[in-house]
This record gives sequence, structure tokens and C-alpha cells, in this order.
Amino acid sequence: AAAKKGPGALVAFEPAIDTISNDQRFIHRELPRALSANELELHYQPIVTASGGKIVGVEALLRWTHATRGPIPPATFIPVAEQMGLMDTLGAFVLRRALQETKRWPDLYVAVNLSPLQVRDRAIIDLVRTSLEESGVPPQRLMLEITEGVLIDNPDEMVKRIEDLHGLGVRIALDDFGSGYSNLGYLQRFPLDKLKIDRSFVLALGTSANGGVLIQAIVALGRALGLSTTVEGVETEQQRVLLRLAGCDEMQGYLFAKPAPAKAIDKLLAQAKQAGEPPAAKSLTA
Ligand code: C2E
Ligand code: MG
Ligand code: MG
Ligand code: MG
Repeated sequence: AAAKKGPGALVAFEPAIDTISNDQRFIHRELPRALSANELELHYQPIVTASGGKIVGVEALLRWTHATRGPIPPATFIPVAEQMGLMDTLGAFVLRRALQETKRWPDLYVAVNLSPLQVRDRAIIDLVRTSLEESGVPPQRLMLEITEGVLIDNPDEMVKRIEDLHGLGVRIALDDFGSGYSNLGYLQRFPLDKLKIDRSFVLALGTSANGGVLIQAIVALGRALGLSTTVEGVETEQQRVLLRLAGCDEMQGYLFAKPAPAKAIDKLLAQAKQAGEPPAAKSLTA
């Protein structure tokens, strides 16, 4: 296309925009159908104690397996769902399904991710309250995961929102901590219960002799503020040992178990119970 002066100059970017909107158009067309066709489901990833490897919770992670395209990652379709105004429907689906499925694991908590749009909308309070009532799951067993970014834009309103959510009796985790803005003042300002330390810090463990220093500092900071810590993305035995030394409370990662359907979690828990002890990491990753 011929370049023009003025608004027409944007013509040069058309190919890229077309590429993005093709994907978006696909998701836009397919996502509503996928919701009603049951193509969306939740997988659950165990969260274990750092001390003994006991499963204490699960994180619900959205999965979309398209009939012809196969698996589409949540990081790809969730932003599109947000743009097209489908996040309400999707968010409600996730919360309800997670609470329904989690009833069978009365000893575990379930962590549910909230997208920034969900947190910004006051309607989240009613959704969480009614979903809890419907399911009968005690609020303490629900952990809502929010990301730092959402707290930045409108801190005053967000303080209120997080306080209201907390007031329902649910717990709040700050997800991917350390990956973004990490305004430390926020740790005091918002009623948080847990820091989920970003996987990037785990990767740093292997790359330098003092790679564990940052994790130790975050764990200490969390402890000083009364927050528990979960480290995400633990993949190796060596990482597990170092993280345990660093003093984190809980761990999550492929070393222990990959996200899996509820039925697979049933099996894991049954195995663990039969063994009378936390199952070895190897049997969990099979
Ligand atoms: P997240 O909440 O930080 O979830 C952890 C991600 O790390 C998951 O990716 C999980 O599969 C992956 N993971 C877990 N252990 C390991 C490991 O040992 N190594 C590696 N490399 N990765 C590991 P997933 O399922 O693709 O989800 C990506 C992101 O999509 C999530 O990050 C979350 O931000 C978002 N997401 C997923 N499900 C939902 C949902 O139901 N609602 C919302 N709003 N966001 C969701
Ligand atoms: Mg999360
Ligand atoms: Mg995370
Ligand atoms: Mg993450």
C-alpha cells in the first residue's frame, strides 16, 4: 500500500494488525461456542508444603482444547476474552467450576486466578459471594490470585475492592510477585495473605552462586509482613532443596505435579493417602 502523509501513514502497519486480528477473530468466533460446547475445562496443579511435600492446595488453570486447533493457552485467549467483553462469562465459569470441583477435596484450598478486568469491576464481590454460597465451600478454602499490575492503576479503589473481597473471608494472593512493578508499599496497603514468588527467581537459582538471595529476601519480607510465600515453577530437586533452605512455605511446579484434570488429582490424593506420606516427586510427575 502506498504510504501517505497524515493518518494514512498507518497503512504501513496493516500486515501486523491483520495477523493479530485474524487470531482474535478466530478466538472471537470460537470462544463463545467453546464455552457452551464444553471445550473449556479446569486443570488443577497441586501446591505442596516446602517442609514435607504434603499437598495443601491446588491452583485452578483454565484449559481450552479446540476441536481442530488443539490446545490454546490461557495466556493467548484470556486477553482476547477481555477485549471482547467475555471475561464476565469466563470468570464466572472458572469460579463456579473451581468451587464445585473442589468440594471433593475438603482438606485443600483452591486458588483461582482473577484477571485485571475482573478485579476492576465491582461485580466481582457479588460473584464471589454467590459462588461460595452456591457451592457451600467455606470461604477460607478459596484463595484469589491477583496480579500487581491491577493494583497500580487506581490504588484507592483497589484497596477498597481487595478489602471487600477479603471481608468475604477468602484469602488473597499476589501472583507472579517480583515479575512486574513490585511497589513494596502495596504489600502493606492491601490486605494480602500470600506472595506467589515468580518463576523467574527460581530460574535465577541455577545461573549464579547467589541466585537464592532475592528469594530469601522476599520470603523474609513476606514473613515480616505476616504473609506466607509460595514459589512457582519448581522443576528440579536442586531447586527444591535451595528453596527449602530459603525458607519459603509452599511450592508449586512440574517437579511435584503438572496441572491435571480433577480426576487425576483424585488419584494423586488417593496414592498419597495410601502411602501414608507425601508421594515421591517422581510418582507425581508421571
Ligand atoms: P499463573 O497464574 O502464574 O499460573 C502458573 C503458570 O505456570 C501456569 O501456566 C502453569 O501451568 C505454569 N507452571 C506451573 N508449574 C510450572 C513449572 O514448573 N514450570 C513451568 N515452566 N511452568 C509452570 P498456564 O496454565 O499456561 O497459565 C498461564 C497464565 O494464564 C496463568 O499464570 C494465569 O495468569 C493465566 N490463567 C490461567 N488460568 C486462568 C483463569 O482461570 N483465569 C485467569 N484470569 N487467568 C488464568
Ligand atoms: Mg496464578
Ligand atoms: Mg503465577
Ligand atoms: Mg506466573
